[in-house]
Amino acid sequence: MLLPVPRRAFLQSLATLLAGSCLALPAAGRRPPAEVIMTVGGPISPDALGFCLPHEHVLSRFGAPPVEPAPYETAAAAREVVPYLKYLAELGVGAIADCTAYSFGRAPELLRELSRLSGLHLITNTGYYGAADDRYVPAEAYDLDAQGIADRWIAEFTDGIGETGIRPGFIKTAVDSGPLSPIDGRLVRAAAITHRATGLSMAIHTGDNAAAAEQQLQILAEEGVSPRAWAWTHAQNLTDPAPLLEAAGRGAWISLDGIKTPYFQAGRKQGDDTLDRHLQHLLALRAGGLLDRVLLSHDGSSFPPDLAARRPMDTLANTFLPLLRAAGFTEAEIHQLTVTNPAGFFTIRQRLR
Ligand SMILES: [Zn+2]
Repeated sequence: MLLPVPRRAFLQSLATLLAGSCLALPAAGRRPPAEVIMTVGGPISPDALGFCLPHEHVLSRFGAPPVEPAPYETAAAAREVVPYLKYLAELGVGAIADCTAYSFGRAPELLRELSRLSGLHLITNTGYYGAADDRYVPAEAYDLDAQGIADRWIAEFTDGIGETGIRPGFIKTAVDSGPLSPIDGRLVRAAAITHRATGLSMAIHTGDNAAAAEQQLQILAEEGVSPRAWAWTHAQNLTDPAPLLEAAGRGAWISLDGIKTPYFQAGRKQGDDTLDRHLQHLLALRAGGLLDRVLLSHDGSSFPPDLAARRPMDTLANTFLPLLRAAGFTEAEIHQLTVTNPAGFFTIRQRLR
């Protein structure tokens, strides 16, 4: 286990990285860009992210009782997951964001080991998951105001998660259907405060409830935070794309993250075919000139197999991108969707003071 890196040492190492050859601008006398993406292996240049799946669950205990830290067996996880991650790498995937939050299976050190063994960049998160009737929100959060909750998340960014020295690369939280419950509203406000302090973007599980999305955007406005820092997660669950176009037009990220075809597990057919829904939303966003606000992913799950159906993470590369090409999407548009947009979402514009 790595010792936590003190804040000053972290900022110094970040400053060193930013001044280093991987990020320095060629023109002498210009400041290097204060932009990084925070992976479980440390900060990287946004250019190094590559083809990224922005919403997956490499590890997840969703559905099991809340527990923190998550009990995983490292060797079993490596045996089960690494071959699949290497397969994704063969398909061109360079990075995956693990959206598994505190108390339902977030495991930064195991992710770091899986990243090392697979060669993929993996990104973990900070935040509390408020959907599923708030069952994964820790009891102590109810005694804190939004600033108090945010202070915990900000500390994970500045000091590392627990004793791991690993920093989150985004904020993950979730809300139930609107109107937002008091605790869900507080989680969204805490996310906005954390964004202001750290530069981390927010992926907020919202689903098909446009009223909950609108309420979140109001909270962001009250906190002086741009919709450009916020992703409407599971936006594909909406049948009418109009509210998505409206939110994207205000700058929000639209996360179409349920790309699936039916698959077989233990002899049983699992999952629906969601490709047409994703394609129709994408065509509507494209017609509105809003492809630069879209994120594509599977909400896949790979470990442990006894807790969650193993939901694939290769359908985008193997099936959906060929479908987009057949529908007339250009290679430049596909690059935008799979490389440029995720890099934009995860890039932290550092507050180096
Ligand atoms: Zn998810």
